[in-house]
Amino acid sequence: MSATISLTEKTTYYITLEEKYGAHNYHPIPVVLNRGKGVFVWDVDDKRYYDFLSGYSAVNQGHCHPRIINALISQAQQLTLTSRAFHNNILGEFEAFITAYFGYDKVLPMNTGVEAVETALKLCRRWGYKVKGIPENKAKIIVCAHNFHGRTLSVISFSTDTSSTKQFGPFTPGFEIIPYNNLAALDTALQDKNVAGFLVEPIQGEAGVAVPDEGYLKKAKELCAENNVLFIADEIQTGLCRTGKLLCCDHDGVTPDILLLGKALSGGALPVSAVLANDEIMLTIQPGEHGSTYGGNPLACKVAIEALLVLKEEKMAENAEQMGILLRTALKKINSPHIHTIRGKGLLNAIVIQHTDADAAWRLCMELKENGLLAKPTHGDKIRFAPPLVITAEQIKECAGIIEKSLAVF
Ligand code: PLP
Repeated sequence: MSATISLTEKTTYYITLEEKYGAHNYHPIPVVLNRGKGVFVWDVDDKRYYDFLSGYSAVNQGHCHPRIINALISQAQQLTLTSRAFHNNILGEFEAFITAYFGYDKVLPMNTGVEAVETALKLCRRWGYKVKGIPENKAKIIVCAHNFHGRTLSVISFSTDTSSTKQFGPFTPGFEIIPYNNLAALDTALQDKNVAGFLVEPIQGEAGVAVPDEGYLKKAKELCAENNVLFIADEIQTGLCRTGKLLCCDHDGVTPDILLLGKALSGGALPVSAVLANDEIMLTIQPGEHGSTYGGNPLACKVAIEALLVLKEEKMAENAEQMGILLRTALKKINSPHIHTIRGKGLLNAIVIQHTDADAAWRLCMELKENGLLAKPTHGDKIRFAPPLVITAEQIKECAGIIEKSLAVF
């Protein structure tokens, strides 16, 4: 932490509580928030900030969207959880709604993003055995280097980031890691007849918004189809209008065999995730073989329906597309030797900082905070700029000004 930034008494109080009583599994920017509305959040001293992280793209619809919060409150007063031991009157409505919305036969609702990924891995293996005919316990799933799909043991088993894996072994077998954005490597890996699926992020968000070449996803899907392998798109961060289309795969005209959604599926109100697939895949799982106590609870279902309606009716994909162009154009006009790269799609963007100081990206984020904009470095030198999709052109201009002014910290 920069020694020059002093924290207020209130801020220090809350941070000290967390330090003392909470596990130290995060390294947050030292700001304590207590309120959010649209693109803004406020700290405990009532200072206002632009939120350029959006809860890692969970708050695409903007903080505390009134329609989503109203849906949450009214359903919370009716029925919140039945478990799947009994039916409820909202689950089927949600399932019909989301499958029509994305064009799939079936949905399997879960809670967190990583649970959707775990579900997809199980579904993919099951399909591999039951439909493709892979010999028992031989199924392989291809994944990409520098992936981020969450934090459970099986999912970190195919992480290439040592901070995710160190001293957490032994790991789950059955995964092959190939370079991202490399069709030749995929083609080679697909030659193994025991491959059941290819799991990929359409843009690698946590890796620092690594955008693959145009056409990569389309060709990858074709290669998978030719080899009878499931193309599994993890759109947990890239989906739901973040990149300027409903799904990032839409840029390439690709329909995944298994689609994973999370984060903004509730607009930041509560954890809701979903796995979508057609019957040939989804019906390979039978009662008792997979589930979650909270998965498909009526509160989550009502909130998710409203969150999806808001995205479409308020044209958030279109706004993300236009505001993303504005943001990248404004960033490119900033004349700083410390911005090495500007990249992204829609409102999922990142800059790569070039500086002799390894802590430069953190220092810049601290300065941005002082100037009223919250962002967080990822992998040392990259800073993601991903505001809620309700941001306006005027606000983008103001934020570019804040970023330019903050670069003076160097
Ligand atoms: N997949 C992707 C692409 C993600 O970006 C994330 C979280 O950042 C996850 C999965 C895991 O989601 P969760 O943190 O809700 O488990």
